[in-house]
This record gives sequence, C-alpha cells and structure tokens, in this order.
Amino acid sequence: MESFSSLTVTQRDQILVEQQVFNIYETFYDMPPRSKSLKLELQRENHLGYLTEGLKQLGPAFCVLDANRPWICYWILHSIALMDEFIDPELEDNTIDFLSRCQDPNGGYGGGPGQMPHLATTYAAVNSLVTLGGDKALSSINREKLYTFLWQMKDPSGGFRMHDGGEIDVRACYTAISVASLLNILDDDLVQNVGNYILSCQTYEGGIAGEPGSEAHGGYTFCGLATMILINEVDRLDLSSLIDWVVFRQGVEGGFQGRTNKLVDGCYSFWQGGVLALLKRLHSTKGEKSIPLDDGEDSGAESPQSTASSDATGEEGLNEDLSQGGSHSEHGDQHDASCRVNVDNIDHNSSKMHAKVEPPFNSLALQQYILLCSQEPNGGLRDKPGKSRDHYHTCYCLSGLSVCQHSWSEDEDSPPSPSAVLGPYSNLLEPIHPLYNVVLDRYHEAHEFFTRS
Ligand SMILES: [Zn+2]
Repeated sequence: MESFSSLTVTQRDQILVEQQVFNIYETFYDMPPRSKSLKLELQRENHLGYLTEGLKQLGPAFCVLDANRPWICYWILHSIALMDEFIDPELEDNTIDFLSRCQDPNGGYGGGPGQMPHLATTYAAVNSLVTLGGDKALSSINREKLYTFLWQMKDPSGGFRMHDGGEIDVRACYTAISVASLLNILDDDLVQNVGNYILSCQTYEGGIAGEPGSEAHGGYTFCGLATMILINEVDRLDLSSLIDWVVFRQGVEGGFQGRTNKLVDGCYSFWQGGVLALLKRLHSTKGEKSIPLDDGEDSGAESPQSTASSDATGEEGLNEDLSQGGSHSEHGDQHDASCRVNVDNIDHNSSKMHAKVEPPFNSLALQQYILLCSQEPNGGLRDKPGKSRDHYHTCYCLSGLSVCQHSWSEDEDSPPSPSAVLGPYSNLLEPIHPLYNVVLDRYHEAHEFFTRS
C-alpha cells in the first residue's frame, strides 16, 4: 500500500473511519453472547430522555431567532413515535400551539413565530402535526392558505422555490408535493412540469442531484424518487441505473455514504435506505414491470432540510438553511382539488401484495452500523464514531433502522421475523410510510382525516 502521506485527504479519512469502525466490530465479536446482545440493544429509555429534554426547550417561551424549530419538533416527535412512545398532553398542547404560531396568516410555516414561510419548515411542521395526530393538531393546518402558498412557490420551469425568491431544487419539489399529497390538496396545477424538473436532475451515475448539472446525492435521490412516485411519473426515471447507484453506496462499514467517495454517515441509513424501501414497494406492486432488481427497503437519504445552514452539497446533503422567505398570493380556486395522484400503489394498503424478496442491500450490516457505531449508549444517535449526537441524526438513524427491520416483511399486517431484527426483538420500531417518513399509523389517521374534511 502506498504510504499514508501520499494519500489524498479523502483516502486518509476513509482509512481512519474504517479503523475506528472495525475496532468497534472486533471488540464486539470477541464478546460473549450475552454481552453481545446487551451491546446491540436499542437504548430506548435513554433515547427517550434525550429527545423529551430537547422538546421541552421548544415551548413558546423559548422562541428566539431559530429558523429550524419546526424541524427540531419533527425530528424529536418522529423519533419518539418510531419508538411507539408519546409525549405528555401538556407538552403536546404546547407543541401544537407553537407550530400554530409558526403558521403564516397567508399560509405555510416559517421557522419560528413571525418568520416568513418556507417550504422546508412547512414540510417539517405538517409532518410534526401528522405525527402528533388528533383533531386539534390536524385541524390547526390551514389547507386552503397552504395551497395558496405552495402555488406561489411554483416556478414556471416546473420546479418549486424554497421560499419567495429562493432557490429551485429537488428538495423544494419534494417538500411541496409531499405536503400537498398528505393534506389531500395535490392537483394538476401543482404537478405540472415537476416531473421534467426532477428528470433533468438524474445524473450519469444514476442518482439524483439537487439541481441540473450537480452531483448525485442520497438526500436528493430520496426526494426526487418520492416526488416522481407521488406525481405518478416514476417510470420516466432510469430506475435500473438509480438502483445501481444506491446499492453501491453501502460501504464496508455497513452504513451508507451520501455520495460516491464520501464517508459513511448514519443519517443516510434513511435517505439511501428509504430509496430502497420505495423501490421495493414499487417492485412488489408492479411485478417485474419496470424494476429489474428485486425489492429492497431500508436505509436512507439525506433530509430535505436538516441542520442549520450547511450547503446543499455539503457532507450532510440536504442540509440547508431553513431560512424563510416568501409570501404568497392568491390562486385560491384550486386548493380543494382532491388528490389526483394515486399513491395507493405504493401505499401500505397495497403492500399486502409484497412478494417475498430479499432487500437489495445488507440490512443486518446496516443495523449493526446504526446500533454499534451511531448509537450513543447515553441516548441519541450520531453520524459516525467520534461525532456528537444530535436530533437530526437521531431521527434519520432511527428511521433507517425501522426501514431495515421491516425490509423483509411480506406485508404490513405481520410483524417482521426475529431474524430480520438485529439484537433483541424489543429493538423493533414502528413501520413508516416511506413516501413521507411518518409512522404508518399516524399516516393512516391523517389520510382519513383529510379525505373526509
Ligand atoms: Zn449525516
């Protein structure tokens, strides 16, 4: 091997990460079986403590200039829901009130009370309220005005702008279409030309970039694929090259990288794994039709938002500033169009038809990476050993873990077999709806609520 000093920075970093990870695995393999089982245990109590503590700081009294607050709500609430836990009623009430104050009088949600609405924080707020569930949370969303806001963010090119005057990218398309679909306000006007935009972002590698001409990336690939499914145009993508790209992002550490030649990172357990979960559902509901590979379900891609303000092509992928922008105008007459897009073909309602097919990734290796390398025993999950825990990585590592655990399931009614769940069976998390990344039960409740209201 070449001398260490002749390697590039990226090569050196990769070697160091592999050494750290392999040390963890070697120590683990030398342990007696009982210790191994303990080591693989999901530390639910500690995670819950860490998450609940973070949520308490989100009370109305703490509103400052943070432009990420609906995101923090979502990361925490979704993580708690994945563990099938609940927050106390007073905290729930406070959270709903807080999010209501983030809702702009003209539609959409800002990063805090009084801030201008932004698509990313709108997605986070809506997913938070859907995760909380119940009439108070769901009816607090002004769908009519939200439709107006979405329409205002629509660009003639087909894409969406993150906020008034903001950037057009795949993440903006996903957050707009996801919210519209969940709230049952998606119509032909919102969908028009979105597919052309997403298609122009699929790269020669097979993955999807944030904008035309950029590099394929896990977070954008999830957003782009989910959007194409939601608007019923998924067959326009080159799905076989997309699958090739995603499966080769799982590294020797067991976790996924976000881009070619980048380091493993726990949050991609959802972004890349979510892509495979979507492809699995497509495949199992369409037979062999368009996807040559079998299903797969599992880990992740980068979030449509994420941490404070990082650049969209940065390590963290979709991270981006959740700054506000926007105002909205009127375009009021199409808000009540009922969802013209048939998501049932990817819905869990039809997942009973899932064929038994192996996931196209190593689900157990990914679970091992999440539990041994990303999990902090004191609570919270992280990118990789040596990094600190945070709510974003806790949310997407747990989401990826859920995807893995359910990746072998033939249908939603039967729980995964113990062999699909690494560690004690008590590690099993709630299943998610992979198009929206909300817990499946909460999705069903919201779907029913917005269908009848
Ligand atoms: Zn990450």
